[in-house]
Amino acid sequence: MQPEVQALIRLQDFDQSLARLTAELLELPKRLDALTKDGAAHGKHLESLQASLKADETERRKLEGSVELHKSKIIKLKKQLNEAQTQTQSQAFEHEITWAESEIVKAEERELELLMEEEQLRGDVQAAKVRLLEMQKTFELERTQALTRHKAGKAEMATLEEQRQATLKTLEPTVASLYERLRRKHKNGIVAAEAVNSQCQSCYMEIRLQLWQELRASQPFMTCENCGRVLYITTVTGFDPQFGPAPTR
Ligand SMILES: [Zn+2]
Repeated sequence: MQPEVQALIRLQDFDQSLARLTAELLELPKRLDALTKDGAAHGKHLESLQASLKADETERRKLEGSVELHKSKIIKLKKQLNEAQTQTQSQAFEHEITWAESEIVKAEERELELLMEEEQLRGDVQAAKVRLLEMQKTFELERTQALTRHKAGKAEMATLEEQRQATLKTLEPTVASLYERLRRKHKNGIVAAEAVNSQCQSCYMEIRLQLWQELRASQPFMTCENCGRVLYITTVTGFDPQFGPAPTR
């Protein structure tokens, strides 16, 4: 293989590694952003659980107060009932006592419901707090790892960039500009294509017989007539019935 072609393949490798590293480093802040969003959403969930718990506790305290009021009212009413002068008065006090007692039953039933709900909510709040702590730990760990990876990635990129520049300097200006042209044209970054069995391995077009023969014989600097990539051969082995024995390298 020609040294120019070897240099092109090296350049292509450098550029692909650089592109891969750039993409990888761009993913790091995205991942941290996603973790921050998850953490904030979970924080809100915890807050709403705590708010529900507080609302239940407040409602239950109010009910306890109203039960106490009803109870003291019943004591008063029973006293008044004992002192009632007429049947109508007695009936009125009895009616009020029955009503207050039914209010107490309703309030106590609701208190029981709230107690059960609060127990469930306390468990949920505790679990959510534990989860939030775990999420914060994960975030801190990943942030540290991301910073380390970012630093290492930047250093790797600087080295690759230096090697790239050094390799670029070894190329003839025409080959260097051909490389840049091909790199812009082919978004996958492949500018050199292996030729196997008279076929370009990048665009899979047949290479004309005469060109294929030339490539096998002397491996000149040659581009694919279809995709424009620089063609190279890595393994020339065996006997081709059409072109004879493989050339010695
Ligand atoms: Zn091609």
